[in-house]
Amino acid sequence: MPFCEKKCPYCDFYSVSYCRDTARLYTDAVIRNIKAYRGNAEIDTIYFGGGTPSILPVEFITSILQAVNENYIVNEAEITIEINPKTVNTKKLLQLRKMGVNRVSIGVQSCVDSELEALGRIHNYDEARKTVLSAYKAGFKNISCDLMLGVIGQTVDSLIYSINQLCKLPISHVSAYMLKIEENTEFNKQNIIDSLPCEDLVSDMYLLMVENLEENGFSQYEISNFSKIGFESKHNLKYWECKEYIGIGPSSHSYFNGKRTAVPNSLQDFIELDRQTEIVTEENPGSFEEIAMLQLRLKEGLCLTKFNNKLDSIMNKAIPFEKMGLLTISDNTIALTAKGFLVSNAIIGGLLL
Ligand code: SF4
Repeated sequence: MPFCEKKCPYCDFYSVSYCRDTARLYTDAVIRNIKAYRGNAEIDTIYFGGGTPSILPVEFITSILQAVNENYIVNEAEITIEINPKTVNTKKLLQLRKMGVNRVSIGVQSCVDSELEALGRIHNYDEARKTVLSAYKAGFKNISCDLMLGVIGQTVDSLIYSINQLCKLPISHVSAYMLKIEENTEFNKQNIIDSLPCEDLVSDMYLLMVENLEENGFSQYEISNFSKIGFESKHNLKYWECKEYIGIGPSSHSYFNGKRTAVPNSLQDFIELDRQTEIVTEENPGSFEEIAMLQLRLKEGLCLTKFNNKLDSIMNKAIPFEKMGLLTISDNTIALTAKGFLVSNAIIGGLLL
């Protein structure tokens, strides 16, 4: 759903300003594409991502869900919608819940107003807090909040404050991302890199965050994701477990029918064409390297039992990292520690090269 009220200065996701007429045409195009992929696929997760899908009128979301239900076998699906605080009210949340959406992912980012302002967010913390409480009141028991690390002005104390505030709310999941200055963003143009907390400080923040979230009952299950027991994101787990999924919309990605594909960043084309353009990005996905890279993001790690021919060489390469406390080895499984997650790219490179 590539529509936002206002572009955040750090964001490099594809999105345009919201306009109801365009969103209507967009919804029609989504439905056309849902029908075009129709097959015997069983759907057990549906994810409205963005952009800001919560900016769309409920009837547009309803018509998309109806199209999925009419064209696929849908089995007790986890249905998530990303929500930007200030774009929903209790009535809208009740309607979303009523039509089967059962998980919300709310872009809180920080519980400190000066940090939210520095991030160019459209909401303050009180508005984000009220959105979480309204979602809970509307019947959502599976609520995720986004938290950002390395924000301008953030300190260890302010991060701990944000975590403590979040943990007081009726939520079951936290996604925590480090702010990265991407090339095509306002922050990059402003060259704000020197104003950000330094890398060492952000690393300390990450480790403290893991510890604090765990103390509050949120177990880490992926580099950036934490949940109460049973509330891991079923949808996102599919990406890391190398399972297939269909992405619809400009800038979306799919892994379907044995190929990885991407849709170009053009809303105009997506709206006008009968079927979205798919550019093949990977003809033969599912290589050992790809599986290893994805599964090493998970706390449960990479099990090498099925990859007998790789077992000895990878285990030998893993031993020095284990001695440094960056990973653990047990039962043919390699799993990165929190410290290891901080340097995951280097470890993965070291294991696979
Ligand atoms: S961060 Fe979210 S709300 Fe902000 S511009 Fe990006 S997609 Fe839109």
